[in-house]
Amino acid sequence: MPVEINENHMIPVAPGQAVGRGWLAPTGRRPMGVTWHWTATRDLATCRQVLGGADALRKGIASAHYGVGRSFEEGIDRYVALGDRAWHAGRGQTLRWDGRRAARATRGARATIGVETVNIGFARPGVAAGGDWIAAATPNGRHVRRIQPWTDEQVEMMIQVGKEIVARWPRIGPRDHHGHHDVCPGYKEDVAGFPFAPVLRGIYEDEAIPDVWGPLWLPRGRQKALIALGYDLGDFGPDGDGADGVWGRFSDDALARFQEAHGQVVNGMWTTFTSWAVYDAIAARGLGFDQILA
Ligand SMILES: [Zn+2]
Repeated sequence: MPVEINENHMIPVAPGQAVGRGWLAPTGRRPMGVTWHWTATRDLATCRQVLGGADALRKGIASAHYGVGRSFEEGIDRYVALGDRAWHAGRGQTLRWDGRRAARATRGARATIGVETVNIGFARPGVAAGGDWIAAATPNGRHVRRIQPWTDEQVEMMIQVGKEIVARWPRIGPRDHHGHHDVCPGYKEDVAGFPFAPVLRGIYEDEAIPDVWGPLWLPRGRQKALIALGYDLGDFGPDGDGADGVWGRFSDDALARFQEAHGQVVNGMWTTFTSWAVYDAIAARGLGFDQILA
């Protein structure tokens, strides 16, 4: 039973609002992917106040196509129609939907659908981690955060929203989904720890979509993957193979060499695009994450 989408807080397509009319010529007048965000709020009402409607607190500065609450009761908001652009990505958009370097016209907000999900983000002063919070590293691997988990009802609503997006824009495939932190690596941290695999499997009704995120959220998984691909990380760590779970200079060097060898932007940032490339390289060797991380 789908949740009814609340359209009472739609942002008018008018000057001074954080909406662009239509999609642009450089992307063929269509969105190329979906950028998932967290709100860093406790509830959808606050997200709505900040992003939604004509009189939002951040009127003309930021928006999103949807806001997804934490429960069916909170529900789903629509702020911008799928035929128009939401200004959801802000500063630091160095990469575009496919991990290539973004040009002005192909930056996230000009080329992707933006979905906000209510989640307080990572533990920090004033925000204490619960026992079930997710451990995930920043794109540069230097910090491991504890992140509030998304709820089961929220996952169902994210699948509903994803299905609506793909029904309208069917060329958006599973590999066209990423987090805000992927297009703004080093500047944004949402949505580290996001349940990409269950959400995408639900949207595309395909259980074969691999989880290329979960095994690589932590530095040790990233190191094990690079080592399996033949990169030398020294002899640190309990296995003496360099996988010590601390992201340092050796790891930086290996990641940069991997990015260079695979035609990626060489920036030392571990993104969804890196995860897919690593998954493909490992699969090409007849291996899977299960074997590598064992
Ligand atoms: Zn964001």
